[in-house]
Amino acid sequence: VGDRYAASPVPSPGAFVNTPDTDPSVAQNRTWVRALLERVPTSTLGIATIDGARISDPALLDETVRGTQEAGRAWGSRPAAERAAILHRAGQALEAHRPRLLEVMAAETGKTVDQGDPEVSEAIDFAYYYAELARGLEQVDGARFVPAALTLVTPPWNFPVAIPAGSTLASLAAGSAVVLKPAGEAERCGAVLAEILWEAGVPREALRLVQVDEGTLGASLVAHPAIDRVVLTGAYETAELFRSFRPDLPLLAETSGKNTLIVTPSADLDLAVKDVVQSAFGHAGQKCSAASLVVLVGSVATSRRFRDQLVDAASSLVVGYPDDPRTQMGPVITAASGKLLSGLTELDPGERWALEPRRLDDTDRLWSPGIRTGVVPGSRTHRTEYFGPVLGVMTAATLEEAVAIANDVDYGLTAGLHSLDRTEIATWLETIQAGNLYVNRGITGAIVQRQPFGGWKRSAVGPGTKAGGPSYLFGLGSWTSAPAHH
Ligand code: GLU
Repeated sequence: VGDRYAASPVPSPGAFVNTPDTDPSVAQNRTWVRALLERVPTSTLGIATIDGARISDPALLDETVRGTQEAGRAWGSRPAAERAAILHRAGQALEAHRPRLLEVMAAETGKTVDQGDPEVSEAIDFAYYYAELARGLEQVDGARFVPAALTLVTPPWNFPVAIPAGSTLASLAAGSAVVLKPAGEAERCGAVLAEILWEAGVPREALRLVQVDEGTLGASLVAHPAIDRVVLTGAYETAELFRSFRPDLPLLAETSGKNTLIVTPSADLDLAVKDVVQSAFGHAGQKCSAASLVVLVGSVATSRRFRDQLVDAASSLVVGYPDDPRTQMGPVITAASGKLLSGLTELDPGERWALEPRRLDDTDRLWSPGIRTGVVPGSRTHRTEYFGPVLGVMTAATLEEAVAIANDVDYGLTAGLHSLDRTEIATWLETIQAGNLYVNRGITGAIVQRQPFGGWKRSAVGPGTKAGGPSYLFGLGSWTSAPAHH
């Protein structure tokens, strides 16, 4: 892409380290970031369609899926070390193409560079980390890992690089071929990602990019009998829909969240304000991991200090499009209808706006952040994931009561506690129901290997293995006691 910049070092095989994000104190980095921001409004990256990716003919779709399953058998029979070496090259290629990935994410989905940059680092981490896990699969005594021949990967648009990259690379590492069907809102991101992986040496037969209209061919793709696994990240309702297409579908899904951060009187309140704002409004709240509720305990609830600081901090965020370097909170993908629009505009009984969201231009995409107070237990705001820049404030007399409020939802993905009291931290860790628990830190941005990511309750469907964690590949195949044939 012609950008010169300081790429991070490549970890040596067997020594996984997390990839650093772009350092803005390096002048060279500021130069290529500025150059890519200038291209964003007119970016054409990924627009050229990849031959054969767009499919509207059911017979062609059938042929493509069957052909990829066939290729999967060959891919899976290659030694794990060979697959790992290709993944390692994929990690290097993703790093080399960081500017291109940031450009297509900003241009297509509105993701700001400061949100996209750690996402590219995460994609690179997945490549190196799953390469290590692939090597480990051959070292288990007395059992042999048999990968799924074909995995269908259906990622969301909110992490249009890291999630498709992670699901695809894990499947390839396990020895399964992949049909990658990007989210309709992020097809260009999916196309650029696939090109980078092919360029790195992933065989085209083992990774097929398939773009279909969900309304007409989605069901036949998901229900196709040649598909052995589906890795889905999306709404819980989508997992249910997939199961309605094919009841016996082997599904590995990371689904919705309704995540709470609790702040107790023993917290560092300044730190808590910063972490709540980042967790609630980073990427305009469009993360499964986002904080959609904050529960204030005891004196934090009864005094005005925390609430006032929170409102001040949220209202200071500069909202704009990603090509403007001043932007701190970008646009939503759309708020034309549905849950998010009502979350931005309609109060429930008892609620009032501590900070009322404003529509900032004549699109349906640019909204200033919203904070509702007076949220009533059991209400819509307590239970519904709006998936946008709206935060609900609830109150509790004690930590136990706050935990009960946080647990009284269908989901359990992430949760946070701000407290400097060891007993409170221990109580919370024992009783909170969520897959990823964060103490005195924001609740988004799980780090590969350090914070394997995945939830329980309705935040996960399937084996419950966590992305970026040691057992993730196990969900992408099965074990047999038969000895390996070499
Ligand atoms: N893994 C991401 C995080 O920790 C969230 C992924 C999602 O939104 O699906 O913030």
